[in-house]
Amino acid sequence: MTDKTTQFDRRNFLKATGLVGSLALTSTAGCLGGDEEAMTLVAGTAPGFPPFEMKEGETLKGFDIDLLEAVVEETEYELSEWSEFEFGSLSPALQNEKIDVIAAAMTIRADRDENIDFTDPYYDANQAILVASESGFTPATMSDLDGANVGAQKGTTGESTVETQLIEENLVAEGDYSSYGNYVLAVEDLVNGNIDAVVLDTPVADSFVADREVQVAFTYETGEQYGFAIREGASELQSTLNDGLATVKENGTYDDIVAQWFK
Ligand code: GLN
Repeated sequence: MTDKTTQFDRRNFLKATGLVGSLALTSTAGCLGGDEEAMTLVAGTAPGFPPFEMKEGETLKGFDIDLLEAVVEETEYELSEWSEFEFGSLSPALQNEKIDVIAAAMTIRADRDENIDFTDPYYDANQAILVASESGFTPATMSDLDGANVGAQKGTTGESTVETQLIEENLVAEGDYSSYGNYVLAVEDLVNGNIDAVVLDTPVADSFVADREVQVAFTYETGEQYGFAIREGASELQSTLNDGLATVKENGTYDDIVAQWFK
């Protein structure tokens, strides 16, 4: 069952039966014992990060959703459920065994690696500084953000960039930084003129540029790579997912999913 048609059919089946995002199976997340039911995985994500994960009405969709489902399809595991959190709550949910795997455009970072583990990387990103198109504010460097009101999503590398490059550099006052539950809310505040700039991952900035009155003022190179996260020490699941990722990269499924979400 490795062809693309089968994978996409399976996803539609899950959606049609309401299994995606709603049904809690009786099996315990993370209890990967010997019985059949225990081979199920509960995936966690944080919608509001287009095109990686977002809600269209009640439906959860996006690049990460399709990619993780395609990867798991290549393994002996079954994806039983998608569970939604704010980004900052994903890592605790993984550690508390509420979920077994995170698919949320999560950057592989040494500080995160202390508490959770990552698969091989599957997507590259940098940081973008997003401004409202109508604002006339066109910063070209971090120094140009001197005195600005900036926003980012809680717990992200965007937030770390604000902290290390703007607050610690005494360009932006602590009180002029707003931390949001998700980037959709941050971009709404930007468009409404409540803040001057939003710092976020480049591919997501491009997605907002495509359908909001915002533009990328400049990018700040961070050389980030996204990985799926699993519990610390879950080495069997880690190598299984790495094998699945390698397979979908080799057989063209990865490129198909990229083509679908990055136009
Ligand atoms: N890649 C960023 C991070 O890991 C943002 C992820 C997100 O907001 N979903 O912090």
